[in-house]
Amino acid sequence: MLEKHPSKPHLSGIEEYQQLYKESITEPNKFWGRLARELLTWSKDFQTVHSGTLEGGDNAWFLEGELNASYNCVDRHAFKDPNKVAIIYEADEPNEGRTVTYGELLREVSKTAYVLKQMGVRKGDTVAIYLPMIPEALVAFLACSRIGAVHSVVFAGFSADSLRDRVIDAQSKVVITTDEGKRGGKLIGTKKIVDDALKQCPDVSHVLVYKRTGADVPWTKGRDYWWHEEVDKWPSYIAPEPVNSEDPLFLLYTSGSTGKPKGVLHTTAGYLLGAAATGKYVFDIHDGDRYFCGGDVGWITGHTYVVYAPLLLGVSTVVFEGTPAYPNFSRYWDIIDKHKVTQFYVAPTALRLLKRAGNQHVRNEMKHLRVLGSVGEPIAAEVWKWYFEIVGKEEAQIVDTYWQTETGSNVITPLAGVTPTKPGSASLPFFGIEPAIIDPVSGEEIHGNDVEGVLAFKQAWPSMTRTVWGAHKRYMDTYFNVYKGYYFTGDGAGRDHEGFYWIRGRVDDVVNVSGHRLSTAEIEAALIEHSAVAESAVVGVTDELTGQAVNAFVAIKEGNDATDALRKEFVLQVRKSIGPFAAPKAVFIVPDLPKTRSGKIMRRILRKILAGEEDQLGDTSTLSDPSVVDKIIAVVHDAR
Ligand code: ATP
Ligand code: MG
Repeated sequence: MLEKHPSKPHLSGIEEYQQLYKESITEPNKFWGRLARELLTWSKDFQTVHSGTLEGGDNAWFLEGELNASYNCVDRHAFKDPNKVAIIYEADEPNEGRTVTYGELLREVSKTAYVLKQMGVRKGDTVAIYLPMIPEALVAFLACSRIGAVHSVVFAGFSADSLRDRVIDAQSKVVITTDEGKRGGKLIGTKKIVDDALKQCPDVSHVLVYKRTGADVPWTKGRDYWWHEEVDKWPSYIAPEPVNSEDPLFLLYTSGSTGKPKGVLHTTAGYLLGAAATGKYVFDIHDGDRYFCGGDVGWITGHTYVVYAPLLLGVSTVVFEGTPAYPNFSRYWDIIDKHKVTQFYVAPTALRLLKRAGNQHVRNEMKHLRVLGSVGEPIAAEVWKWYFEIVGKEEAQIVDTYWQTETGSNVITPLAGVTPTKPGSASLPFFGIEPAIIDPVSGEEIHGNDVEGVLAFKQAWPSMTRTVWGAHKRYMDTYFNVYKGYYFTGDGAGRDHEGFYWIRGRVDDVVNVSGHRLSTAEIEAALIEHSAVAESAVVGVTDELTGQAVNAFVAIKEGNDATDALRKEFVLQVRKSIGPFAAPKAVFIVPDLPKTRSGKIMRRILRKILAGEEDQLGDTSTLSDPSVVDKIIAVVHDAR
């Protein structure tokens, strides 16, 4: 029998968190040194826990130490129990999945590592991974790290041009892909997209192709190789290559919500420690758990919480190929029941979709669920409550985890079963994170509680990014030169009377109306309380009278009509929830909002449209459905 609570949380309560947190801030070397030796296996011990400063942008952790990521994720668990399930693969079609044990994973990773070596991949080389959510994606990650290569994953929904840019920027010489992908009942021509992208990447010498559907695909002899044919040639064990703690583990481009995507670099030991530590304490992972992160491996959430955290801790990770809407809106909940999932982690955009679809789809028992995570955007209180009551049956704990590609792992978040929660607040800092609220006008830190400003961190932590690939100056300018001595997140935040943090969204997304600094997230949360609202995005536009004025874009639920009366109701909703000063001056009812491929709303596009600068939208390569832009432009024009 699988018990709901295999044991108590790792910490006895909030007092133990406070005590450990204090140690992590006042004696970080002692704290992280202990955790690094407890959670990771080293082939050579480190002597120096940390060196460098935020001002210098030269932070390094666990110097002199050596380890291997794939050994930590696979070998050590395979040696203990080769039959333990590492990967639960839930294919796009509900009946087509399979499981992969730690023993099998070690063999697959070894063979694939051999293949990469034969293709000329050496320690420090970058390998582009353009794979859908299948077990081989995890095998590819781990095969790279096994030989000390650097993976550069590109979300397998990106266009040929976006893939090309990332392959060139990262200087990858090998690309790993499939013949096709399958998602939500639709086929995606991944190999064809790779072929198109590579027309302008002369430096790519090899393409390794995993046969997912068996489709007929174009083939370039001498460059393209079938995965199944290549792995058959090589033995099932290859020794892991020990690397230095600070050797790069991977490169990952950010979502591009605010501009040109940044090639964020993470190094080995610090990143792995962040993944393992947050997996253990935030998600309360225990031996025997079945962990399901719905994020794609093409994003940081998939890196840290589909691959590294669960595998480092030796539990089973669900790899889901499909979408929450296929074959119907119960898909997530069916997966959770079928695999007795203990932790589930997803973005608010998916939750809004499922809430909009209706509670009748959430009939499932899900009795093993202990933790429900949210990530990627502020979660409106309305959606938080729905998650807690309807999905979690008021028993699973919600963890609203705030973090970024650059932070590597969760930085402000409740610890499941330990931290008291408030709907809409990411709560308290994780170990080693010392948040500061800064006044954006004076640049001074604002001390005490009940304060608002921009969010920065005062102390370095192991899983922080070390550079932006090939653009260290951009790294310094974006994160460290804005407020000297701080890491700047780019997000606005408030610290309430109890010291809890409320993330307000990006600094650029703050609206200043007659001197009131309003967070777009707060106004959006108010709008979503109206029963006809499915999703909303709020931006500020220049206003002669008030400096800036609030404009709202709203996608309405089916069965509602875009009438003036409804627009008035939306304005009233905001007046009532927040106050008259926050009331939108204009409300545009649109079919959909511009979102990145990771589901984040791109407010900068809306700002440009309102400013009449449709021809200067900037980098839109990460938009998931570029056609919504024209539809929104049409709505705005009609209204004027
Ligand atoms: P880019 O940096 O290219 O503009 P991005 O910031 O969207 O893209 P990510 O690193 O994927 O790329 O996202 C991090 C951002 O997501 C955070 O800075 C924050 O704005 C938002 N975010 C993440 N988690 C939360 C959360 N729990 N609550 C509120 N906002 C969140
Ligand atoms: Mg960002």
